[in-house]
Amino acid sequence: MCLVTRAPVHICDMEGEMTKQALVCLYCAEINALPKPADLELCVCTACGRELMPQVPIDVSPDFFAKAARFDAIPLIVDFWAPWCATSRLLKGELQDAASAFAGCIRAIAVNVEDDRHLSTAYAIDVLPTLAMFQNGVECWRQSGVKRAHLIEDWIRGRTSCLV
Ligand SMILES: [Zn+2]
Repeated sequence: MCLVTRAPVHICDMEGEMTKQALVCLYCAEINALPKPADLELCVCTACGRELMPQVPIDVSPDFFAKAARFDAIPLIVDFWAPWCATSRLLKGELQDAASAFAGCIRAIAVNVEDDRHLSTAYAIDVLPTLAMFQNGVECWRQSGVKRAHLIEDWIRGRTSCLV
């Protein structure tokens, strides 16, 4: 169970809400303002209608990543990878297992650093693969190299309010 889903809100309607949280749609990059708390797994994007909390890591463009890293109020786990990197492929599987344990509490994305030649410099990515966590525009954590799913779960658990 996740703290942010403790009090379900079944419609993503801002009326009457005192507090809001931003979540960037990973499919269209629209910034959604959601009630807090909300049952995030039930919320859909106001622009494209797709789910805001995919249960598995999805590949996004560097632009979408940058926007989500800047605005997301819930933890965003980012897998910086490249197609030529064999260990990147190993990490993908481990991250998928780990992220599924935190469905509804975090979002996980993969960004191909080859898609933007400035990305590695901008985010100081020296080693592939690198996992990092962003929340409210701040990078909270990063780790390079392949880690097993249970170790990834441990560090997500240690740095979020996810009660999984
Ligand atoms: Zn959308």
